[in-house]
Amino acid sequence: TAAAVYRGRFAPSPTGPLHLGSLLAAFGSWLLARHAGGQWLVRIEDLDPPREVPGAADVQLAALAAFGLVSDLPVVRQSERHARYRVALERLLDAGLAFPCSCSRSELAAQGGIHHRCVAAAARPHPAYRLRVADGSMVAFDDGLQGPLRQNLASEVGDFVLLRADGFWAYQLAVVVDDAEQGITDVVRGADLLDSTPRQILLQRALGLPTPRYLHLPLLLDADGQKLSKSSAALPVDPAEPLPALHRCWSLLGQDPAPLHAAGTVDALLRHALDHFDPARLPARLHFHLAATTTAI
Ligand code: GLU
Repeated sequence: TAAAVYRGRFAPSPTGPLHLGSLLAAFGSWLLARHAGGQWLVRIEDLDPPREVPGAADVQLAALAAFGLVSDLPVVRQSERHARYRVALERLLDAGLAFPCSCSRSELAAQGGIHHRCVAAAARPHPAYRLRVADGSMVAFDDGLQGPLRQNLASEVGDFVLLRADGFWAYQLAVVVDDAEQGITDVVRGADLLDSTPRQILLQRALGLPTPRYLHLPLLLDADGQKLSKSSAALPVDPAEPLPALHRCWSLLGQDPAPLHAAGTVDALLRHALDHFDPARLPARLHFHLAATTTAI
């Protein structure tokens, strides 16, 4: 089949209920996909059981449905895809681009926290696996909202983890494998992942996979300048009252509130939103501070 012209996605980790920041990313990625006449998928990134809350994925999917945001294809769960990540790691190992690493936390700290070579005193039975980042490795990309960016991966990141010593797959590997396999053409997500993007591009190149377009939306910060997090249940959105949160996100996306005022249902609001959405109005900034007085939406 021909490659999709535009296929976006929203990929929450099931660490708690959706908050206003996650809804902003979901709604923003949905609007951009629909505006482009494209598809929009949901993928559950349940790779890190110690951080996950049982049942959170279903709660998130029910909330998305209440906001009218429904995946065009069956929802994919990363917990069911370990074999794919294994295949990718084997390819990198065969190509000499990945290696097992037994460095301890303290040995790594002694190198300034950035891995450039293994200094492990002893090999561990269950090492981590890292991608080798060559000296001088530099990745540049053009973010759809934040503009041109570059990162010196060698000096700022170093060799990074693909498979953790505790046996869990690293987000960086899984996201690259899945975005490629799902044919994602456009990654739209929060700016907290901006500095993961060069790692993902480097991995795509190492695996011979295409690089999607990237667009990073502003991150919502609380009054103390902390990122809203699902695990701390900051500003949860109420799926029983979807309209106020959608209006709020629409404004945070820089859009004209007037055409949405009359919408009395989620369906009507989304229809008006698509009729009036203007990507040129998206705010090219990295974050918004939310007022201290803001409580549940
Ligand atoms: N699962 C990640 C998160 O919830 C997002 C991954 C992505 O959009 O690339 O923060």
